[in-house]
Amino acid sequence: MISKKHITDRFISYVTIDTESDPASQTTPSTKKQWDLANKLVEELKAIGLSDVTIDENAYIMATLPSNIDQEVPTIGFISHFDTSPDFTGANVKPQIVENYDGKDIILSEAENIVLSPDYFEDLQQYKGQTLITTDGTTLLGADDKAGITEIVTAMEYLIQHPEIKHGKIRIGFTPDEEIGRGAHKFDVPKFGADWAYTMDGSQIGELEYENFNAAGAVVTVKGKIVHPGYAKGKMINSMYIAQDYIDALPKKETPEHTSGREGFYHLHTIKGDVEETKLYYIIRDHDKEKFEERKAFMLQMAQTINSKYNNEPITIDINDQYYNMREKVEPVMHIVDIAEEAMKSLNITPLIKPIRGGTDGSQLSFKGLPCPNIFAGGHNFHGRYEYVPVESMIKAVEVIVRIAELTASKKVK
Ligand SMILES: [Zn+2]
Repeated sequence: MISKKHITDRFISYVTIDTESDPASQTTPSTKKQWDLANKLVEELKAIGLSDVTIDENAYIMATLPSNIDQEVPTIGFISHFDTSPDFTGANVKPQIVENYDGKDIILSEAENIVLSPDYFEDLQQYKGQTLITTDGTTLLGADDKAGITEIVTAMEYLIQHPEIKHGKIRIGFTPDEEIGRGAHKFDVPKFGADWAYTMDGSQIGELEYENFNAAGAVVTVKGKIVHPGYAKGKMINSMYIAQDYIDALPKKETPEHTSGREGFYHLHTIKGDVEETKLYYIIRDHDKEKFEERKAFMLQMAQTINSKYNNEPITIDINDQYYNMREKVEPVMHIVDIAEEAMKSLNITPLIKPIRGGTDGSQLSFKGLPCPNIFAGGHNFHGRYEYVPVESMIKAVEVIVRIAELTASKKVK
């Protein structure tokens, strides 16, 4: 139904435009260059025939595919982000197309000896015989999430060209700055006006996610006292040693490298310290809201326990919630997940429903009143030089979007 060349050309036209976001910037979008793709997308959405194509002062793009049926059915939305991760360069992306993949090593760069190998990236095996788009080993690819954008645009174009497929009103939304955690911040949910939406921002074919972590960040500050080491006896307080006690007080096995599935963790990601002052930077994650609250309480309690051994209370702690598990917002409207699951099954795609060990824009949008599960966009190894996407997975994602539109219109759901 959808030509491989057509979708490949569209994808390449997006990934060759650098849209890396920047966490240090305070503007929206965080980098000026994101406008380059945003403006191009606006023109393209108009050209394929969508209505109400808008872009606001923060580069949030919205558009409408009007309903082509008489009865009233829910308005659904599809969302993805056009920025790429600042973890790895997105400038001068030179996509390589590997046709009829033979299941062996793919040389990304002969000169730099960079190889994408199924021995290390086992997921590659399942794409034998398919067309893969890879990097040239020197940049990321940007399938996260330009694959999602490609799929949404292509699905809307397909629906416009196939009026025999009946659907209700569909809204689409493209955001900047998802990779720096701000994609949902300035998303105008009332303006979008959908009953629910899907982010097309997952990885391998079949992924369907409506559970993510509850998340907080904690900064533990330990105060010490510097004195000349030669005269320090009974006077110097070394903040680094107290910080070490604090690190030891948290459960050693509840860390990212020892947990999976629905197990939560404390993650110490940065230490900055000298004798006078040490700062420990943690993130706290748990799918379960109660356990999440317990983890934060435990961190405060351990600070108290250690403080009680000193007369100047050396430890202070600052904990800030970052995002919450969307499950509580999606479960009351579970049919929105069921429709996506049914769409996949009808296309012979095995749904992979699992909790995300992270967050998505969908979680923030769900708490802003737009329930928003996440669907695969098809790419693998995001945020680095080994990123790739099978063209067949992108085509399947287009079919899932079309099918969800069709199913929503054929059911009496609200
Ligand atoms: Zn993404």
